[in-house]
Amino acid sequence: MTRRRWIAEHWDEATATLVGPQAEHLARVLRAQPGMQADVVAGGHVYHAEVAAVAANEVRFNLIRELDADPALPITLVVSIFKFDHMEWGIEKATELGVGAIAPVIARRTEKHLAQAAEKRVERWRRIAHESAKQSRRSDVPFIHDPVALSDRVRADSEAMRIVLAEQERSTTLRALVQEAMDAGENQMPVLELAFGPEGGWAPEEEALFDANGWRAASLGPRILRAETAAVAALAVVASFLE
Ligand code: SAH
Repeated sequence: MTRRRWIAEHWDEATATLVGPQAEHLARVLRAQPGMQADVVAGGHVYHAEVAAVAANEVRFNLIRELDADPALPITLVVSIFKFDHMEWGIEKATELGVGAIAPVIARRTEKHLAQAAEKRVERWRRIAHESAKQSRRSDVPFIHDPVALSDRVRADSEAMRIVLAEQERSTTLRALVQEAMDAGENQMPVLELAFGPEGGWAPEEEALFDANGWRAASLGPRILRAETAAVAALAVVASFLE
């Protein structure tokens, strides 16, 4: 029987504590008692743990021993904000697929009302990532950055190999670029940033900005994919080099 897995809000080297809704659920609904066993994620590590103390909205675990954890993919998805329901589906799927971080950006063709509402949606996006990480038994939760203008992200310094998924690109595939990076890095998976445009696609001046800042354009094939489909497809391509 696989032990339930919880993602702790607070931890130190010997204990981990759940607070708020998770703790209430564990205490009230699952009637947790001291001694109950579970897997607890704390600080990106997974532990076999045992309930030490239960209070109304706080459950403290003793950490027994660290378990093997599956590291996240060293990938940040730079996602132009698009229709929230599709975007939230994309965040959940990207989390299941092991994404390391998601950086929402406001692109030229991002719908204005979505751009304005984005600040208030980030907490919800973080909750979706947290829930999906728990459901997919990840040992960490993807980091969701605060939304910024696309140009800030494109121009920012980065050690990553930065790739813009371009629906116009025909010759270079994402697979070829990752293979090139793997060959150059003695088969080390490179740290990647993958950028996806909004429903309206990239504006010409954005494609020029990517190019001027050293981003490589890559194709995911001849068909036009929704941004969330493109994100899932791209993560699957990269993950296939690992597993
Ligand atoms: N409205 C545009 C498509 C935008 S799709 C059009 O009809 O041409 C949203 C984003 O998904 C694109 O900006 C791109 O980042 C990504 N994408 C979609 N299909 C792709 C493909 N075949 N290759 C690479 N990226 C793609």
